[in-house]
Order: sequence, then C-alpha cells, then structure tokens
Amino acid sequence: MFLSLKKKARVHSPWIYHFHTGGCNGCDIETFATLIPRFDIERFGVKLVSSPRHADIIIVNGPFTKQFVPMLLRVYNQVPNPKIVIAIGSCALTCGVFNRNGEENYALAGPIEKLIPVDVCVPGCPPKPEAIIQGIMYAIQKLSSL
Ligand code: SF4
Repeated sequence: MFLSLKKKARVHSPWIYHFHTGGCNGCDIETFATLIPRFDIERFGVKLVSSPRHADIIIVNGPFTKQFVPMLLRVYNQVPNPKIVIAIGSCALTCGVFNRNGEENYALAGPIEKLIPVDVCVPGCPPKPEAIIQGIMYAIQKLSSL
C-alpha cells in the first residue's frame, strides 16, 4: 500500500534535479525555459529541487569535463532508486562541438553515458523546450514502469 502510494506520487509529481557539467549554458537556458509560464512543465506536477536526495529524475547537460567526474558520481549516488537520467543536448550525448572529429579532448571525460547509465536522450544544440518536455514525459513513462 505504502509502496504503491510512493509510486503514484513519483509518477504524478516527479521531482527533478538539474546538473550542469560544462558547456555553453545554452542547454541550461532551454531547460529552465520549460519552467516559465509559456511552456509550464509544472502543469505535469514536475518540480525542480535543489538537492539530489529529493529527486526522482536527474537532468544532465554539458560535455562533462574531467573536474565533474567525482561530483556527477556523488550526485548520481545520492538520488534514491528508482531513478531516471535524462541527457540533454549534443554535448551530453556526444560531447558536441567540443568533440573535434573524434580526437581526444584533454579536458573532457564525456560523453555522460561513459560514467552513468542514461535512460532518455534529448538531442539538439540546444534542444527546444518542447523537445525537453517530451524527454521528461518519456522519463515519467519509464518511472511508472519501475
Ligand atoms: S549542446 Fe550546444 S547548447 Fe548545449 S551546452 Fe553544448 S554547445 Fe551549448
């Protein structure tokens, strides 16, 4: 009974932690745009939280620089199970413009799936708020099946 109540709360009001791992901030701006009244992601019960311990979903963007390795692992481990990871933007998925034709970039440890499992990918440089909202909807669908 308590577990099904928890699951219902998670699916109808998923809490999201946003983690930036470098990049140009374009993806951050588009992610935060989903919260403004024009796109209003909160109509789906979605809430942005400031602590990973309270989150159900982690949104990660940026090309994932080496200095973020311990922080990303720490954040990932702090989010309680079951959790969903959404990688937003070309940088998060492939290191984007920072990936020079597959040459190794001394500053990067990415893409993000090298370090943590990614459940939902939202491509684009940067992706539009509509695409990010669609990614969050996929993440909620996945959450409901866990
Ligand atoms: S994917 Fe594009 S917009 Fe997003 S952080 Fe990388 S360079 Fe910036």
